[in-house]
Amino acid sequence: AKPDPILVADDVVRRFGGITAVDVRHIEVQRGTITALIGPNGAGKTTLFNLLTGFDRPNSGSWTFEGRSLGGVPAARVSKAGMVRTFQLTKALSRMTVMENMRLGAKDQPGESLVKALVPPLWRAREKEITAKAEELLDRFKLYEKRDDFAGSLSGGQRKLLEMARALMSDPTMVMLDEPMAGVNPALTQSLLGHIQGLRDQGTTVLFVEHDMHMVRHISDWVAVMAEGRLVAEGTPGTVMADPAVIDAYLGAH
Ligand code: ATP
Repeated sequence: AKPDPILVADDVVRRFGGITAVDVRHIEVQRGTITALIGPNGAGKTTLFNLLTGFDRPNSGSWTFEGRSLGGVPAARVSKAGMVRTFQLTKALSRMTVMENMRLGAKDQPGESLVKALVPPLWRAREKEITAKAEELLDRFKLYEKRDDFAGSLSGGQRKLLEMARALMSDPTMVMLDEPMAGVNPALTQSLLGHIQGLRDQGTTVLFVEHDMHMVRHISDWVAVMAEGRLVAEGTPGTVMADPAVIDAYLGAH
């Protein structure tokens, strides 16, 4: 297929004291694909996620998302632009209900807006829209029955599902999943994989960090490999996973 990058980043550097956590010359994510970002512990994968989504700032570098320059832009504006992420340790707020967590994922929270005070009917309409969307997503992710339960009562896998569902509340163009399989019991594995493929099939671009190589091989269209802050290889799963340099990068650090 003709390349159609949705995300293009150049010369992204992030140092912590003497450590260069990220030093990526160039990376692209093609629209409509599932792209895996793999690499040994400490390779810089989460740091790169943090930078791209505005949760951390680079020492230098630039990137565009859908042609718009987003380098150094804060997280709230990044998600408004359509790039939404989940976290390695889930951020589902355990003392809020599943439904309350979902509402946090909505764009333009009506509770925070002037509309509430100035135009009550508009505010109520928006509230209804958010509830309907949350219910539809909870249903799709088989969490509807849990909507009034505290997020803290969910299993690890259900929390991952909730986090993914919440990320979809704002209709993102691209979702970035940080270790979606970590802590997920085998019973939910298939369902999670299905949801991720479902996102791609609906046209959402997916970039994910994962150590579970079975998952990477199974669902990725493209795999990018980081080691010591750099992008050291990329290609189709079959090519990348047969690459001696990739095997080295992994074995070298384990
Ligand atoms: P893992 O697979 O274990 O999650 P990773 O590839 O996501 O690893 P990062 O968490 O991005 O790797 O870490 C890259 C490097 O940056 C590591 O050496 C880490 O210790 C360092 N690092 C990350 N965040 C910080 C921070 N806030 N302060 C200092 N050093 C940090």
